[in-house]
Amino acid sequence: MDRVDGRQAGPHRTSGERVGDYFQTIVDTEISSADAAPMAARIVEWLVAEGVVGPDRTEPVIGSGPAYPPGPRHRAVVDSSGWSEPWEAGGLEVVTTRAVFDAGQYAEASGADCPHCGRTTELRDEETWDEIPGAWDPFAAAEQAWLADGDAPVRCTHCRAESPLTDWTGMDDAFAYGSLGFTFWGWPDLTPRFLAEFGRRLDRHRTVCIRGKI
Ligand SMILES: [Zn+2]
Repeated sequence: MDRVDGRQAGPHRTSGERVGDYFQTIVDTEISSADAAPMAARIVEWLVAEGVVGPDRTEPVIGSGPAYPPGPRHRAVVDSSGWSEPWEAGGLEVVTTRAVFDAGQYAEASGADCPHCGRTTELRDEETWDEIPGAWDPFAAAEQAWLADGDAPVRCTHCRAESPLTDWTGMDDAFAYGSLGFTFWGWPDLTPRFLAEFGRRLDRHRTVCIRGKI
């Protein structure tokens, strides 16, 4: 994935901005590659039944792939209190292959936390936000291996234990690794209630909601 210098910027929802720039991706970080497509089909079936999205994918106005259009009841699952009317939601894009789901051009993790000892490997200088030379290299190698469907251990520089790349935490504000992702393009923030139900329907797998702008 591209790594662009710059401080991480939070999503903006002021009226002067095109809301279509904003997106949220629900990532299932636990599901296997084999289970991703059948699970996606079940989730879409539920969303269509609830009127959250329409059943037929169309070419997107924004986003990068075919997407399900917003359904008649999509306003029921978002908190649009900070959005100025009229706003128009984009589509729902579903990815069912291993991917790095990131928060857009300012997606930068400051560090990664070892699942074994809990200590943080700093990736960026706190003051200058410059990359710490070499710090990302073991993660980059693991990322490539993981995307190629391989195992992807990363050795902790503190405790020397190896842990799977996908078990490292602390990078969720910037990106997440998973085989199943649902990106809502240009929707106001999904409600906690909807996210909870979404997670329940993902068999209570570990999920991450990435928010960002393109
Ligand atoms: Zn460690």
